[in-house]
Amino acid sequence: MTVEVVKNYINGKWVESKSKETRDVFNPATGEVIAKTPMSTREETLEAIKVANAAFDRWRSTPALTRVRHLNRIRDAFEENFEELAKILTMEQGKAIDESRGEYRRTIENLECATSVPSLQMGYNSEDIAAGIDEMVIKQPLGVFFCVAPFNFPGMVPTWFWPFAIGVGNTYIVKPSEQVPLSQVKQFEIIHELGLPRGVLNMVHGGPEAVNTLIESPDTVGMSFVGSSYVGKLLYKKSGEFGKRSQVQGGAKNFITIMPDADLERTVAALITSFYGCAGQRCLAGGVLLAVGDIYEPLKKMIVEASKKYTVGSGLEEGIQMGPLASKKGMENVLGFIEKGLKEGAELLLDGRGVEVPGYPNGYFIGPTIFDNVTREMAIAREEIFGPVIPIIQVKDLEEAIDIIHANPYGNASSVFTSSGKTARDYQYRVKAGNIGINIGVVAPIATFPFSGMKDSFFGDLHGQGRDAVDFFTENKVVVTRWF
Ligand code: NAD
Repeated sequence: MTVEVVKNYINGKWVESKSKETRDVFNPATGEVIAKTPMSTREETLEAIKVANAAFDRWRSTPALTRVRHLNRIRDAFEENFEELAKILTMEQGKAIDESRGEYRRTIENLECATSVPSLQMGYNSEDIAAGIDEMVIKQPLGVFFCVAPFNFPGMVPTWFWPFAIGVGNTYIVKPSEQVPLSQVKQFEIIHELGLPRGVLNMVHGGPEAVNTLIESPDTVGMSFVGSSYVGKLLYKKSGEFGKRSQVQGGAKNFITIMPDADLERTVAALITSFYGCAGQRCLAGGVLLAVGDIYEPLKKMIVEASKKYTVGSGLEEGIQMGPLASKKGMENVLGFIEKGLKEGAELLLDGRGVEVPGYPNGYFIGPTIFDNVTREMAIAREEIFGPVIPIIQVKDLEEAIDIIHANPYGNASSVFTSSGKTARDYQYRVKAGNIGINIGVVAPIATFPFSGMKDSFFGDLHGQGRDAVDFFTENKVVVTRWF
């Protein structure tokens, strides 16, 4: 079988990259190479910027309702191709097929939400700010925006941004993760058939060279980045240096606090999904369990029991709950954390290493893993593992839990499980994390809300999705008028 190098999509056409450098794309369940991603060159990236820039004037003067009609068409086409899109996602990323379907539900919701930009973009105005003088704000698009996407949600993440960006009249370039380009290729194949004007939406594959070119070009105006905090911070600084707007969604270590008055059965069910969903490769995944007081022993027992029943296998098999890690490197990283945990004195209550999946000897599988005797200083309690691992720490009260949470540099999400309204209110008021869950394990904001994040989990001010997205992708122009 010949393995194809995926193409860029520039000015409404599929274009082969001339770059000699490529990265292999693997099926994580089998370890087979299924495609190659080109590391597009500076010239190729500049070409995408040039055409997006050339398309801008015409696109911005296209009536907003016409613009979003395109989004509606894309939304319908994604719905028609729903199963195929989900299958491709699982093939390149590994997640269980139902999780891929869930990701595409969210993708479609993003498009649906972005179709409301004509009303969200309407400015405000005021008459007679002085006698006979009126003032208004008009929200204008700015030019060419781009996103730099991560490997864990290859179908959905770009739609946090581009539907809003083009909906308000900008043009756009998507830079998918080089590890998982195929979901975006399929989406662009669908979009290609739908008559979106050329140059409005483009795609350039690649790595640092393509990204640096996008930031450095005087013809781009802003970046949405989603990925690790380390890379995000570098690119945030660089964007500032080049005078670009940016919103940077970084990594996470999400603490989940279980109070003694929590409903244990329902809590455990939510925790399982939080820690093991997408094999733990979610920026909103549970990172550490903080068990308050006496709940520690029964919680431990129940979570181990429930974890043993969690099914691991190839994501394409219906009914499988957890697929493989998305890459060999990712798997080795998680194995490294498990080793480190043991070395630092934590104890394994459940060991997911070496899990066997019949028929898939080369897949990157790790089963549910649970650590006890964890202390707050250990690497497994501080750093993002990005795998199906639950470190449990016993704490004496809510104060100690919040103290541990606040000592951590990340602030993406945090949840509390309790039946006390007062505790819940205290938690949402005090905990420094962008997304707070009350008896919720995965605090994923729907498309009409901002995808929040604090501390090292987010750099910038306006977040992705919802009304924030409209503000990020537009400039407020103030017009003061007097007629003689
Ligand atoms: P990553 O930082 O390795 O890569 C993200 C993107 O940056 C990729 O497109 C990659 O090509 C590009 N990139 C990498 N190094 C670069 C460099 N030196 N210069 C320019 N571009 C570079 O992240 P990843 O491993 O793909 O994704 C996993 C991370 O993403 C996790 O930390 C996860 O928490 C985070 N994430 C965050 C959110 C959120 O909303 N906060 C959502 C999803 C994932």
